[in-house]
Amino acid sequence: MERITMSADPAARWNCGPEHAPGVLEIDLGALAWNYRYLADLAAPANAAAVVKADGYGLGVGPVATTLAAAGCQVFFTAHLDEAIALRAILPDQTIEIGVLNGLVPNTEALYAAHCLFPVLNDLGQVEAWRRWAKDRDRVDLTWRAALQIDSGMTRLGLPADELETLLAEPERLDGVNLRFLMSHMACADTPNHPLNAQQLALFGRARAALPPVEAMLAASSAALLGPDWRFDYIRPGVALFGGRPEKGRPNPMRPVVALRARILQIQNVAPGQTIGYGATYEAKSPAVVATLGVGYADGYLRSLSNSATAILRGRRIKVVGRISMDLSSFDVSAVPDAQVGDMVSLLNAEHTIDDLADQAGAIGYEILTGLGRRYRRVYRG
Ligand SMILES: *Cc1c(COP(=O)(O)O)cnc(C)c1O
Repeated sequence: MERITMSADPAARWNCGPEHAPGVLEIDLGALAWNYRYLADLAAPANAAAVVKADGYGLGVGPVATTLAAAGCQVFFTAHLDEAIALRAILPDQTIEIGVLNGLVPNTEALYAAHCLFPVLNDLGQVEAWRRWAKDRDRVDLTWRAALQIDSGMTRLGLPADELETLLAEPERLDGVNLRFLMSHMACADTPNHPLNAQQLALFGRARAALPPVEAMLAASSAALLGPDWRFDYIRPGVALFGGRPEKGRPNPMRPVVALRARILQIQNVAPGQTIGYGATYEAKSPAVVATLGVGYADGYLRSLSNSATAILRGRRIKVVGRISMDLSSFDVSAVPDAQVGDMVSLLNAEHTIDDLADQAGAIGYEILTGLGRRYRRVYRG
């Protein structure tokens, strides 16, 4: 009997070249670098850090972080300590600073030192834990630095107002803490006229004036575009680097970083009265042609795109009909008479961006980006 052996290399095992992939995700690292330079130039004389949490917003933290570092980025943030440890392995140059936004978890201090990371201290308990740990060391140097975050109105992470008052009344609580940054985070910066914006800015300004003088950073992507008052010493963008729209209802100055195409697996002629997909939520009113694609909600093509998403096939706009399934979705291609099995449908591109698709899903561009599936063949360009 013939024995079939499998290679350890997954690509060789499946012999699945791009010509077989059901979906191809293209990530334009040139556009990513351009977006970083655009924001850094806009922010100057302030500096630009980069937030690369959630695997670089879903695009692969390795290629993302090395591209940003090559574009000049010197300060990075992740959400979690594990993400920061992985990032340090990608960026071993210790002049590059890596911070952890989500705060100091008990008994992790030594890991910060071992991997040359800094925590963002989000409450007085964390400040005390860090101070005690740093005090036990024989030197207070770059290795033990930390950022301090105050909560200026988000009510999420950072010293709440009462803890800030305590800290201002008892400044010795910071003795031995080598403060690197003073930070806060905006709740409504994508809505320029929201009254909370000015309140948060004023509170941050007061805290900054009262605390030891260290470099200040407040703005993520949206606030970075609000104007110079918001930029302080550093901006801290995430989504805009990846092409996301920083401000609601305004033109997006960022370049798109992702493009997604998926292959037509089957085409069917549909008679009036025939229904499409789970739950029979779509019924053809007239004869139609329906194409099935191998992309579904398990790939981050959200179920809320059912009966609503559009895409582009051979230069023409087509629409989802019926529910998105786990691995499949259906499009009405009646208006594209030359559509063929094997054609690539463009689900995300410069004309139909992550924000456009998010609008069709009742989601936000961040969700589309961070949900982009692991089953796509990923192609990095530039
Ligand atoms: C995620 C995050 C950012 C980046 O936000 P974007 O809106 O993606 O630019 C910055 N700061 C903090 C504290 C964050 O949690």
